Amino acid sequence: MARIPLMAGNWKMNLNHIEAIALVQKLAYTFKADDFAALEIAVIPPFTDIRSVQTLVDGDKIALKYGAQDVAVADKGAFTGEVSALMLAKLGCTFVIVGHSERRANHGEDDQKVNLKVQAALRHGLTPILCVGEGLDTRQAGEQVAHTLAQLDAALAGVASADVANLVIAYEPIWAIGTGEVATPADAQEVCGAIRARIREVHGSAADQVRVLYGGSMKADNVAALMKEQDIDGGLVGGASLDPDEFVSVCRYRLHP
Ligand code: PEP
Repeated sequence: MARIPLMAGNWKMNLNHIEAIALVQKLAYTFKADDFAALEIAVIPPFTDIRSVQTLVDGDKIALKYGAQDVAVADKGAFTGEVSALMLAKLGCTFVIVGHSERRANHGEDDQKVNLKVQAALRHGLTPILCVGEGLDTRQAGEQVAHTLAQLDAALAGVASADVANLVIAYEPIWAIGTGEVATPADAQEVCGAIRARIREVHGSAADQVRVLYGGSMKADNVAALMKEQDIDGGLVGGASLDPDEFVSVCRYRLHP
């Protein structure tokens, strides 16, 4: 089964809801039907922007998907500051990023918590974009595959194969995030291929359907080479997704020479 490529723009903690509307409007009139036919395109704004993005996307019938950058483990209750999958589903979110390295590093999210967040998202019909990937020390020690597969195994513990098939996994080497240091296509393929092989081992044919993205300084000038690799089905794009022209160009990788 052919996998539909996905480009998801992780805005991180950038753009208020007014700026979000301006960016989505610019994307909406720049992307053409051909773009949305060729791949899935998503924006992942801060929580405070999601309602505005929803109103615009629904009102103007834009084929853009959207999602959130994090989700609570619980569905509701006394969890000050948290936002649940139930709430995100009500806002029409398709995706939720889970286990981004910035959440793991800055908010103490361990593998067990990431697993609970994957399960919370799935309970409410959201597609987790599960982030895994190694730091620089681990890569220098040549342990990138073992490290990333251990994160993957832990995050997917107890998840049914039918759900795994619909997941998105983002391989994001931490040393390449926001640094301008991009993994070579071969480096990215090594780990993305290992992720798919592990999913085949544990979940059989779900491996043919699951989408594996690369993330880490993906830009217009490196996306085409990365997308030629057989196990890379798209990108989780940080900095480059804040510039509409750059993001459109990333999404049009298929037209690059
Ligand atoms: C990210 O944070 O998911 C990311 C890939 O960021 P950047 O593209 O800026 O490296």
